[in-house]
Amino acid sequence: MNPEKLLLCTDMDRTIIPNGSQPEHPAARPCLRAFCQRPEIQLVYVTGRHRELVQQAMLSYELPAPDFVITDVGTRIYQVVAGKWQESALWQQTIAADWRGRSHEDLRKALSPRSELGLQEASKQSNFKLSYYLPLDADKDSILAWVESCLQQLGVNASLVWSIDEPENIGLLDVLPRNATKLHGIEFLQQQLGYRHDQVIFAGDSGNDLPVLVSPIRAVLVANASKELKLQARQLAHENGQDDALYLAEENNFPLGGNYAAGVLQGVWHFAPALRPQLQQIAPTP
Ligand SMILES: [Mg+2]
Repeated sequence: MNPEKLLLCTDMDRTIIPNGSQPEHPAARPCLRAFCQRPEIQLVYVTGRHRELVQQAMLSYELPAPDFVITDVGTRIYQVVAGKWQESALWQQTIAADWRGRSHEDLRKALSPRSELGLQEASKQSNFKLSYYLPLDADKDSILAWVESCLQQLGVNASLVWSIDEPENIGLLDVLPRNATKLHGIEFLQQQLGYRHDQVIFAGDSGNDLPVLVSPIRAVLVANASKELKLQARQLAHENGQDDALYLAEENNFPLGGNYAAGVLQGVWHFAPALRPQLQQIAPTP
């Protein structure tokens, strides 16, 4: 009488969006869409994309409609009801505490003396996300150390996230509140919505998903993830004592395979036996 409910949290690019080099089973996304329509499922997208880019991807790839979206690498959370996006003010207040009342503008001014730091486009900024380009030939370590000490002087509790945009051949630096991460965003929603620990599943594919993949949250790494990331995730989950909370989807473990959306469904099959009958109604299963 009390069907198992599930907060299904998933990364987008190369996790449910098949924009990697591996093939996607043609039934994978239709089955995921059918599964997410079930009343027991609340779907959460957890992504580095900003709102417009999420909406674009939902249209282009015919993705299921989410109930919540954690965007901009964890700095914004939206509830989506009948197509209307409502940002969580409580989440903004929560992460604002890290910046001790300092604004995006305050931080931008403080960091302006370093001309190597080129501010990214307005669409890539948000109240609590300050994003820069940094040429790959710049002295990254000394610049990051300078940024770190500058933020410390302001009393700001920030994390610096460095990555490389390989197609564009440029470095990317995000300055974020320390607690504005994918992991904290998911924990916030879990608590707000009253889900037990065994009613949450996360799916991801790459480096910025690692903190969630190796946390106590039950998580699936889709089969199309790189070999290196699989090794790293397994090792870190082991070090954290979370071997059982990490599942690596396999191409040959499930009729739909384990790439992208099929990997997500495989993870649900693995972690949520109570939902297997529902899965069996919509997808070919083992
Ligand atoms: Mg991804």
